[in-house]
Amino acid sequence: MEDKKNALVTGGSKGIGRAISVDLAQAGYHVMINYHSDDKAANLTKELIETQGGSASLLKFDVANPTEVDKNLLPLFEEKKQSIEVLVNNAGIIRDNSIVWMSKENWSDVISTNLDAFFYVTKIISKRMVKQRYGRIISIASTSGQAGMRGQVNYSASKGGIIAATKSLAIELASRKITANVVAPGFIGTEMVAHVDQEKVLPHIPMKRIGSPEEVAAVVGFLASSKSSYITGQVIAVNGGMYM
Ligand code: NAP
Repeated sequence: MEDKKNALVTGGSKGIGRAISVDLAQAGYHVMINYHSDDKAANLTKELIETQGGSASLLKFDVANPTEVDKNLLPLFEEKKQSIEVLVNNAGIIRDNSIVWMSKENWSDVISTNLDAFFYVTKIISKRMVKQRYGRIISIASTSGQAGMRGQVNYSASKGGIIAATKSLAIELASRKITANVVAPGFIGTEMVAHVDQEKVLPHIPMKRIGSPEEVAAVVGFLASSKSSYITGQVIAVNGGMYM
């Protein structure tokens, strides 16, 4: 494990994050799996990686809480001098509602978890990457950050914010051989969208199917690799043609 390169995946315990964690472990990274509350799912992901011969560790903390982020990440990179080659900002939540009914909590919970957390985590990790003169930062946005979606004013703001912030981040870090890119999934079969009526969604997807977490992870894996060395500040959609 000491010689392995490290990847941190926020919200890496289930859904898209689990597929990304497994993919990066298969590519040879030691994967630090962050999650918030579901210990069972996190342990399952760690076991899945270890069964395949990979290595992973669990980091349980709330990415929306800057004190917890500092407490969990600073010692890794400042005291233990651990390298960090790949950061995937994946943790996210939805609290959908029409703006007329949307509470202030619905707004601020989504902005805190999806956008403020991007700042808290990326600030710490990019400082480490600048010292290393290498890094790959991949953030998971959404079609909702690119096009309007009913009931998602809060979520669209958070994901659109990630897209805009990544472009500035990419410019700031480019000279240090650090790339920053966004992957924007459409409808992907995870817990997050389990409540969505597929009959209503499928007519809007040219491929007429929901995507899989692995289809998102494959793009993240490419952006995390050295093969993506001349790509930065980009948004790559994985959406079956739903938005072009
Ligand atoms: P999911 O299955 O609900 O998983 C969410 C993950 O994020 C879990 O590991 C969860 O951990 C973690 N998480 C949530 N809040 C957290 C917090 N405050 N601190 C730390 N970890 C937290 O979601 P998903 O569908 O895989 O979505 C992953 C990402 O893709 C999100 O950013 C989402 O917005 C984006 N996305 C998803 C879709 C889709 O169709 N599924 C489409 C576009 C974009 P716990 O379970 O322990 O709380």
